Amino acid sequence: MKKSKKIQSAEQVSAIISAFRCPICESEMKVKELKSLVCEQNHTFDFAKQGYLHLLSHPIKSQYEADLFTARQKIIMESNLYTSIHQVISKLIQKHVNVSEVLMIDLGCGEGSHLQRILDESIDQKFTGIGLDIAKEGIMLAAKNYEQPTWLVGDLAHSPIADQSIDVILNILSPSNYQEFKRILTENGLVIKVVPRANYLQELRAAFFVKDEKREYSNEDTISLFQKHFHVLERVHFHDSKNLTRNELENLVRMTPLSWSADPERKLAFVNQSSHEIIIDLDILIGKNIVE
Ligand SMILES: [Zn+2]
Repeated sequence: MKKSKKIQSAEQVSAIISAFRCPICESEMKVKELKSLVCEQNHTFDFAKQGYLHLLSHPIKSQYEADLFTARQKIIMESNLYTSIHQVISKLIQKHVNVSEVLMIDLGCGEGSHLQRILDESIDQKFTGIGLDIAKEGIMLAAKNYEQPTWLVGDLAHSPIADQSIDVILNILSPSNYQEFKRILTENGLVIKVVPRANYLQELRAAFFVKDEKREYSNEDTISLFQKHFHVLERVHFHDSKNLTRNELENLVRMTPLSWSADPERKLAFVNQSSHEIIIDLDILIGKNIVE
């Protein structure tokens, strides 16, 4: 008989239990009867039947809804818009990570497709993947689609992860909390942060907003903040473009918060094209933990 997702997830978590800490009291945790995660003070978190863990100390309402994550999953897994960047990130991990067994967490993983694709590419090293996001809708979709990683609903600014337990943090087009990142990374641990450059999804900006509203974006502040916290081993400029079909354009619009404030008529005109070239323009920062 095939193991339930709940049991499978509880076994996976047991294998990396030292990487967990209680999101409420910060004490060590253990897996109890393959049903729940329990801390020294008996704070108890049950494995959901879909296989994920809900580890928020208090409920937080996410503004991201299920529809956005479904669209994002379709774009990442089916349109190949991000395929080359997954390959580049995988090669960078191979180049900079020397440990044989790598515990990697994606902080702000959404529905988990980037993490799954990077794990798919990284076959030469032994990886254990964890995905964490504050949005339950994203984590539920991740647990439904991808069995290999451990999926956690949690707050990256106060994570349920123990000190110095993570080899690689992925932080892809997501908010950061560098104090927290440094706390959970091992001494030589790495952060791989992906930030947008000015031309990232520029077609959407150009289509949605009239010129005056369109603000020029620069990522220099983001990058200099990152440099204050980590020793930057490499900064890779990633540039790629793909022609998306009408259906893919619709998913792209549904997945991006850019479109929330866009004029509905302009949005409609954009998705009513038979195809359109979309530019992916990003910086990949590889930072090494500086232990103070
Ligand atoms: Zn506790």
